[in-house]
Amino acid sequence: MGTNTSSIVEQSLTALLDDSTFLPELSGEGRSKAFTSLTSILSTPNHVHKSFLRVALQDGRVIRIPAFRVQHNNIIGPYKGGIRFHNSVDEDEVSNLASLMTLKNALHEVPFGGGKGGVVIDPKDFEVKELNLICRKYVQYFSQVIGPEKDIPAPDVGTGEREMDWMMGEYKSIHPGMKYRGSFTGKSIVNGGSLGRKQATGKGVYFSLRYMLHDFVTAEFKWLTERDNIFAKTVLDHKDKSLTMAIQGFGNVGSVVAAEAKKCQLLNNKVVAVSDSNVTLYNAEGLDITELIKYTKTNDGDLPTNEESLKEANVKATICDRDELLTLDVDVLVLAALGGQINQGNMKNIKAKILVEGANAPITGDADSYLSEQGTVIIPDILANAGGVIVSYFEWLQGRETQFYSEEQVYKKLYDKMQNTFKTVYPQYFGDAFPLRQNCYIHAVMKLSTVLFKQGKLY
Ligand code: GLU
Repeated sequence: MGTNTSSIVEQSLTALLDDSTFLPELSGEGRSKAFTSLTSILSTPNHVHKSFLRVALQDGRVIRIPAFRVQHNNIIGPYKGGIRFHNSVDEDEVSNLASLMTLKNALHEVPFGGGKGGVVIDPKDFEVKELNLICRKYVQYFSQVIGPEKDIPAPDVGTGEREMDWMMGEYKSIHPGMKYRGSFTGKSIVNGGSLGRKQATGKGVYFSLRYMLHDFVTAEFKWLTERDNIFAKTVLDHKDKSLTMAIQGFGNVGSVVAAEAKKCQLLNNKVVAVSDSNVTLYNAEGLDITELIKYTKTNDGDLPTNEESLKEANVKATICDRDELLTLDVDVLVLAALGGQINQGNMKNIKAKILVEGANAPITGDADSYLSEQGTVIIPDILANAGGVIVSYFEWLQGRETQFYSEEQVYKKLYDKMQNTFKTVYPQYFGDAFPLRQNCYIHAVMKLSTVLFKQGKLY
């Protein structure tokens, strides 16, 4: 698992406790007591729901599958977050991911709280009918705790619009007449999904990189040069340079980041490596992303793994080991696979100086500290990968209004929203921008703490 959310929340609260301009209404002994309450509220989930789904398989066997829905915090709106289908899912992981959702939504001013679901399966081990049953059982078991005003799930690793459609269908059967469209987001368009939702996370991830290495460095050039700060130096070192990029994960997030990188005229960048759970493909001249996307679409999402399939894909690349991608000598490394990918075991071999967290918690706490000490700039998950939940929010709104936005409108709204967040966390508005993770957490924690205080929850 990646960075431990509760320890960073605690550090943020410790910093805010000493800042007397923050919640000045709280002073003296009352202040430290209120901050102790905040630490406990923000580091503990409100509810952990756990079930063992009873599923009859096609071969006649009946199995029980562990499943979770963790509801971390709903202080600023209904719980919200994806459902993950993966073998590594466990209660701790789902809880940590749920708390990340609380922070992500608070940071981007999305009026939702944080939740997360998980089912301990590898979807590749099941037939379509069985997956459909697992999805329906999930909704049956958790039907009383989810809903459009309570807790709104969405896709995450191992799930997509097919699963959300199935789940919404089941929710509708259990709760007839309810505003079922808002019960799940990330649905297909015909079922009330939003245009642009599928691409939203990847678009936002690339936007965050572009923003930092173009808009931010341009607008804040003077401020950056005046800094005696290793991070500022790293950002400046990348200005107007031809950048090489490696992208871990070529699914819904990684492939969109790669496609955006290819299109972007503001950054002179080139994707030299991509990887999935099988291989790394490398080409110093840049990979043909369009052909790779075409290939994965007809090959179960997998990248070519040998010379023959590379030929079939019409792509020139060297095939390397899956994890070799992480330690390549590139400028930018985008992590768009799973959690805990950069850890104590490989942190010293990471050469990229700009890391972008497309996945949730891909860097462990140890690795985060180590790399930050080296001046590596990390654009953290709650900042970079919020495009998915932001467009989920638009989907939820569109479902309520039964009015739909064009794809262009969705992207425009997404960029505006993310840009507002960037402007808030970058320096002209708030002290020192770096390390970005700490800065983003402080902003999210400030928002949540103020709401809790004003609602009288700290007495
Ligand atoms: N699973 C995505 C995330 O981790 C999207 C969540 C949502 O749309 O609710 O941010």
